Amino acid sequence: MQYYLPKINYAYNALEPFIDAETMFIHHTKHHQAYIDNTNRILKEEKIYSNISIEKLLKSLHKIKSNNTVLLQNNAGGHFNHSFFWKLLKIGTTVSGNLKQQIKKNFQSIDNFKLEFEKKSMQHFGSGWIFLVFKKGKLSINSYKNQDNPLMSSSITGFSGYPILCLDLWEHAYYLKYRNRKLDYIQSFWNILNWEEAMIQFEKFYYSDKL
Ligand code: MN
Repeated sequence: MQYYLPKINYAYNALEPFIDAETMFIHHTKHHQAYIDNTNRILKEEKIYSNISIEKLLKSLHKIKSNNTVLLQNNAGGHFNHSFFWKLLKIGTTVSGNLKQQIKKNFQSIDNFKLEFEKKSMQHFGSGWIFLVFKKGKLSINSYKNQDNPLMSSSITGFSGYPILCLDLWEHAYYLKYRNRKLDYIQSFWNILNWEEAMIQFEKFYYSDKL
């Protein structure tokens, strides 16, 4: 199995001034590429020849017998997280429909959801990700260390579910522009979050996971 770097369907400078072109370029072509290269190398070395999507690999990670499970977890997780994240970035979208309704139901209001997302992002210590997760008809905000994500078994991460949207909390995602101003980076996310993509993700699971 070989994984490949997905193309981003917008220019590296498309998210300026909120995320600068240099950060996007390095993040995509260096960081994301490295996670893919490492994943491919581990699968080859461990002779794991499963021809499956990265999502399926992550869901079955806890069953894979490997001498490099943590390394595989970090790198395969990195590949999925970044692939998912690039699709979730676009300037000037708004939330509507079922996702808006369910965010209001679970967090009282969109503004309150944003505040809680910012708070939990700030509380996360060290490298990791913050996700909006859908599980058993409920939305929740959860942070994950390193390159963990909600697709991985809860025996690995403590909480699994369907990822709806996410933000990269690693310093490499913002340091060139924001330096130590992590909150400014997190709050800038509301200008570039692609709600259209988040709504597509949510619709995929809303009816099947509602009960
Ligand atoms: Mn990253």
